[in-house]
Amino acid sequence: MQKLNQLLLHPSRLVGADLAAWINVGGGEGLLAALENPQAIVATLQESGLGGMGGAGFPTWRKWEAAVNAATTNGGRYVVCNANEDEPGTFKDRYLLEHTPHQVIEGILIAAAATRANHAILYVNPHQKESIAALTAAIPQWQAHELFKKLEAHVGAPVNLQLVPTSGRYIGGEETAVISWLNGGFPFPRRKPPYPAESGVNDDPTLINNTETFANVPHIIRNGAQWYRDLGIGEAAGTKLYSLSGDVLNPGLYELPMGTTLQSLIFDYGGGMLEGRAFKAVFTGGPSNTLLTAADLDVPLDFTSVRARHSSLGTGAMIVISEGTSVVRKVSEYVEFFAANSCGQCPPCKSGTFQLARLIDRVDSGVASADDLRALENLCQILPGSGRCGLIDGAVTVLKSSLRTFPEEYGLPAQQ
Ligand code: NAD
Repeated sequence: MQKLNQLLLHPSRLVGADLAAWINVGGGEGLLAALENPQAIVATLQESGLGGMGGAGFPTWRKWEAAVNAATTNGGRYVVCNANEDEPGTFKDRYLLEHTPHQVIEGILIAAAATRANHAILYVNPHQKESIAALTAAIPQWQAHELFKKLEAHVGAPVNLQLVPTSGRYIGGEETAVISWLNGGFPFPRRKPPYPAESGVNDDPTLINNTETFANVPHIIRNGAQWYRDLGIGEAAGTKLYSLSGDVLNPGLYELPMGTTLQSLIFDYGGGMLEGRAFKAVFTGGPSNTLLTAADLDVPLDFTSVRARHSSLGTGAMIVISEGTSVVRKVSEYVEFFAANSCGQCPPCKSGTFQLARLIDRVDSGVASADDLRALENLCQILPGSGRCGLIDGAVTVLKSSLRTFPEEYGLPAQQ
């Protein structure tokens, strides 16, 4: 258990919105080091192995490098912390913002130093009132601090550090929808490229990272890339926040070395399954990925290893279900969530998620015909890739995975 909460959730760092308390535990040292050698920031991130914690695990340095190299169109440069967090089963970013907002803001300011951004935006879900309250108290303290003046001198312009409430919609967390909202429009996603790092808010370079990603940055810059890598297990670097929920004895937020096995997360840290319940499966990453089953309990939880099992670590949400819990019922809930949260601009997504939800509800209600099941399987073939963003793909992925892994729950013969 010594490996629990070593970095972001270390008790000494949960100082709330008091900047002096954050500075007392080494806060500000990362930003100072960044300002003393801004050219080294991206290379240090590259050596550290930090990946994007919003779900994709994309190498953070690549995105930062793209933002550094992109030319400004209208004179601005933006850094945006994506704290829309609305994925079912994910509750990590709101915890960071509420309990250690300075850790996140310092990471954002280091990004502003690396990219010479004159806008630093905290894009926060308004339903998370505690996050808003903590940031509202934290931001002015930074603005009054001498390090902020140093940052502005380095950028060569005033840095507009501000909180912008999101629309509160799930789809508003998709990064191109973030841009649309910040440009004053409805949060409709668009196709990529161009990537936001190249062309984002006001057509200017816009570096968008997840809250947890930014929180890691001050430590990496302060302590060095190797120090950060060594926190992980084997080839996996750093730590990861896991939102553990479902049929386990101790659900909650756990920070563990990257590369900790699924077995260890559930049974060593999560206390194991509820009394008398046997493990059945895990909906991972926000429930839009391939299910992990008993055969995957040995998988190290890092982006590469989970991808090798044809799934995704995603946001680190792990929704555990036990024998006796209906997979069809859970998938039905999630597909309904996606149907309710489709933005509607891509007809195959809007009608496709609705059709999937209707059909799986018929399975769950025990009234599905053979034709319903054929229609379900057909939709799973034709819908992927038909939307501007990944929403429809996520709905299909979890559904297809459940059909493949638990066919008997759909009344289909078990696969060989
Ligand atoms: P993606 O793979 O398209 O991109 C990942 C990131 O890499 C993006 O920020 C993208 O801009 C950047 N990128 C990729 N190529 C680039 C390039 N050549 N230059 C610069 N930047 C580049 O993934 P995505 O659609 O942004 O995110 C998918 C993930 O989001 C899924 O894993 C899902 O689990 C997760 N997700 C998270 C939430 C949440 O609440 N955190 C909600 C829904 C989905």
